[in-house]
Amino acid sequence: MRTGRRHPLKLTDEARAAAARCLEAVGFDPGLAAAAVAGATVETEIAQSVAWAAWHRPVLYVAARAPVVGITLGSTIYLRGAKHLANWPLTVHELVHVAQYARDGHPRFLARYGADYLSGRMRGAAWREAYEDIRDEQQARAAESVARQRACPAAPWWC
Ligand SMILES: [Zn+2]
Repeated sequence: MRTGRRHPLKLTDEARAAAARCLEAVGFDPGLAAAAVAGATVETEIAQSVAWAAWHRPVLYVAARAPVVGITLGSTIYLRGAKHLANWPLTVHELVHVAQYARDGHPRFLARYGADYLSGRMRGAAWREAYEDIRDEQQARAAESVARQRACPAAPWWC
């Protein structure tokens, strides 16, 4: 069992600046983008843990069993293994979700995200297609593409 909290990993100044520019490129207000990336933390496992916020645990229980490499809950990014810390486009993708929570508030973000997914499924889309059609995922993928086209900041991005 985990005892006590570890020091959470935060983005370096250089990574914050680069990530914020990717978020601005997909429409985020510069102030909101800067605040979101500054507040983001990363965990390198997707698992229930007493160390995480209570509302994260049921979501992580489901996510741990789904084919996902990362999930963002509020300002916390959960990655499936430390190897994904070295994936800059994925980092930017998850930071978009941090900014979406910050922009909309948790209930509104989660409601829209869930409603988009369910409406896709009710149209008859397979889960993967319904997931890809979620508007918040489209925005995250757009920022991921921007990150791919630009030079990465110097690694490590989290410390
Ligand atoms: Zn996503």
